[in-house]
Amino acid sequence: MFFFLVGGLEQQATRMLKSGAGKCVACGSRADLVEYEKVLKLFFVPVWRWPGKHPLMRCDNCNLFYPPPPSPPIDVMRCKTCASDVDPSFRYCPFCGSAL
Ligand SMILES: [Zn+2]
Ligand SMILES: [Zn+2]
Repeated sequence: MFFFLVGGLEQQATRMLKSGAGKCVACGSRADLVEYEKVLKLFFVPVWRWPGKHPLMRCDNCNLFYPPPPSPPIDVMRCKTCASDVDPSFRYCPFCGSAL
């Protein structure tokens, strides 16, 4: 298809959020957390651009964009009595009422 020879969708980093936030999933190089925009190009001219919804990781080395790894789970305490997941700031289990 001719369209795909002369144009395409590119992702471009627009703003650095966190330098060296992770490692590239493809080559293992340093990757940054960035805000990005998608750019539609026709004949190498940007004709339309719109911002990405979520920040992405971008590799310094191979320019790969990929979703950041999920943030580490927040600490959850487990009630010893009923085994429910409980916010660690609670002193009593909201499910069974036993002291934590
Ligand atoms: Zn890479
Ligand atoms: Zn409980």
